[in-house]
Parts: sequence; structure tokens; C-alpha cells
Amino acid sequence: MSKPANKIQDLQYFGEFGGVNPSISDSATYTFLHAKTMLDTFEGHAEGCYLYSRHTSPSNLYLSEALAAMEFTETANVAASGMGAITSVLLQVCGAGDHIVSSRTIYGGTYAFLKNFAPKLQITTSFVDITSLEKVEAAITPTTKMIYCEAVSNPLLEIANIAELSKIAKKHQILLVVDNTFSPMIISPKKLGADVTIHSLTKFINGTNDTVGGVVCGTQEFIDSLRNVNDGAAMLLGPVMDSLRAASILKNLRTLHIRMKKHSENALYLATHFEKDGLRVVYPGLKSHKDHELFKSMYNAEYGFGGLLTIDVGTLEKANELMELMQHENLGYLAVSLGFYKTLFSAPGASTSSEIPEEEQEEMGLSDGIIRFSIGLDNDIERTYVAMKKCMQQTGILK
Ligand SMILES: *Cc1c(COP(=O)(O)O)cnc(C)c1O
Repeated sequence: MSKPANKIQDLQYFGEFGGVNPSISDSATYTFLHAKTMLDTFEGHAEGCYLYSRHTSPSNLYLSEALAAMEFTETANVAASGMGAITSVLLQVCGAGDHIVSSRTIYGGTYAFLKNFAPKLQITTSFVDITSLEKVEAAITPTTKMIYCEAVSNPLLEIANIAELSKIAKKHQILLVVDNTFSPMIISPKKLGADVTIHSLTKFINGTNDTVGGVVCGTQEFIDSLRNVNDGAAMLLGPVMDSLRAASILKNLRTLHIRMKKHSENALYLATHFEKDGLRVVYPGLKSHKDHELFKSMYNAEYGFGGLLTIDVGTLEKANELMELMQHENLGYLAVSLGFYKTLFSAPGASTSSEIPEEEQEEMGLSDGIIRFSIGLDNDIERTYVAMKKCMQQTGILK
């Protein structure tokens, strides 16, 4: 069986002048030799022809092709941001009167879109505990068009049973859409039965925090529908990625397999040690994680359990005190986002999940004292552990 990394390594590009990187397409529009070909392209029938860069561009196709290879899908379409990719999919599949069954622990922006924006278009959502397959199936109605979830959820690190969710989706003839931002290479949703896989490229995949970006991976038919000039959400809403960015993200993508292994190795080290020290740590690689076995049944083992972990230090005040001290000690940045070479930490209740009302946060187990860590690529993680532990002792979180 071929591995995702091998597939990326296997892609071969020749630039316009024989360069080892594809040439960057620096055009918004494209010429046609024959007027008839232009007409055919508008009707969606001109294979290999470029029309206008909001539709697609050579640089965006190179990046899309590499991401489709990583996700084992027929093809893909990149977008200007993760939210650009997510909203295009939701609005392509759903219209007035339609319904979505979504995990209740999802990225704050996605939650806000489904809760506050989609109802303006008469698209409604039931938010459910995605780890309860009974609750998911019970929420499906005759107008439901999709089940939406994150493979590893933000910020609680719950694990979606993609294979079982896919069976439910197939039974009801609806789509299973999975946001795989937290676990690129580690989990391959398509192989487990997902119909559409989405990423925010902003995080691990680009890895350098210099841009936002997104991608939708799926069948040729679905991606064509997104790009359709007459009714495609990606084409008509216009969240298009710029060619220069597509070229730079493609170059970063080539080291993703090495970075994921290191993020996972470092996160497992810290999670194991801090749990032993008596802290409340949530990490899918720990036996104490309630979906540890499920994760192991789904993952591509060589990439580990991912770079994200959470520690509950009790109160927001303690969390803030610790984060400020860790930043002062150069152990990472107090910043949202993830997948950077430096460790990033934030208190999700007060930041990225602040769109979720307090009562709902409480119900889903999102306490104020939770710190979400995106563990960096530290070369000496033992040194990091010792320094972090000192910060925890200084703030009275550890004895
Ligand atoms: C960041 C993030 C998004 C949104 O992506 P942007 O690139 O910021 O638009 C969506 N889903 C998850 C899980 C994320 O972490």
C-alpha cells in the first residue's frame, strides 16, 4: 500500500525552462488560439485549458494535485483560506430548507458560520456529540444533506469514527465531510469512507505561518461542480488562492511528512511526562485518552498522534499566568493557530472557541482552564520539558 508521503515524493514536475520547481503562473487571464475552444471551456468541456484564474490556474492545479495525492482523492481545489474551502463546500451542497448534522466540537469559525450565518440562507444545523453514533443518526432528517466533522476535533481532541460515520452517511445517501486540519498524513479520511476532505493549509501543511490557505479534496465530479462557471460556489464566491502563494505552499508541503513525525514525537514526550507529573493532559497518544484505541485503528502509525495536546490548569487566570511566563522564557508564543516550528499556546475558551456560548462550552467539557498547545519542532524536547516544568512550578500549577 502506498503511503501519503511516498505519493508526494513521487510527483515529478518540470518547470517551463526545465526547472525542478514548476514555473509560477503569473496571469489572471489566458489566450485561446481558437474561439470555439473558449466557448467549450465555458461549458466545462475543455480539458487542460485555462480560462481565468478565479476558475483555476496552473500553479493552483500543481498544489491541488499534490494535496489530492496526499489525501488519496481523485482531485482537489485550493482556496484562499480554510474558511473559503469550508463555506464553499457547505454552500455548494446545501440550499434553503436543507439541514446539516455537525459535530458540536468544531473550529470556532465553522461553528459561527453554521450557527449565525447559514440560517440567513435557511440552512439549519443540528450540533451533536460526534462520538455518539446513535445521536448522529438520530439527528438526520429527510432534509439532511451532510454529516460534518473534524477528524481530530478542535479544541477538545475528540476523535471521529470516520468509518462508522461513513456507513451512516451512505445509508441515508448523504455526504460525509471531514475537516482534517489537525491530522494531515496521520489520518486519511477518504480511505476510511469520507466523501470530501477539507484542510486549512494555514496550519501544519504550510507550516510557516506566513499565509492562510485552504483545500477541498474529493471526486472529480464534486470538484468540477465547485468550479462550475454557472453555479459553482468556489467560482462564484471567489475565495481563490493566489498563484504565488500556491507555489510557496507546494514547496513547504514537501517536508510535511518529516515535520509531522517530529511534531508527534515531541507532543507524545511532553504529554507522557506531564501526565506522570499529575497534570490533566488530553492527547490521543495517551492510553488515558478515551478514543486512544479508535485513533490507533485509523491512523498511519509512522506519523504518530499529532502535534496538539491540551492541559487543564484549573482556571483562566492560571492559564494566562502560565502562558505569559512560558512566552517570556522563549518556550513558544501566546498565539492562536497551530502547526508552527515554535510551540503555540492559547486558552481556547477565551479565544478560538469564544464564538461558542458559555453554557454550551460547559456542556461539551470545554473548561476555562484549558490550554491548547501546538507543539513545535524543538530539537531537544527534554530541555523544553524541564523548562516548561519550571514555569508550572513557578506558577504553582505543579509542586
Ligand atoms: C484554522 C482552522 C480552520 C480555518 O482555516 P483558515 O485558514 O483560518 O480560514 C478550519 N478548521 C480548523 C480545524 C482549523 O484549525
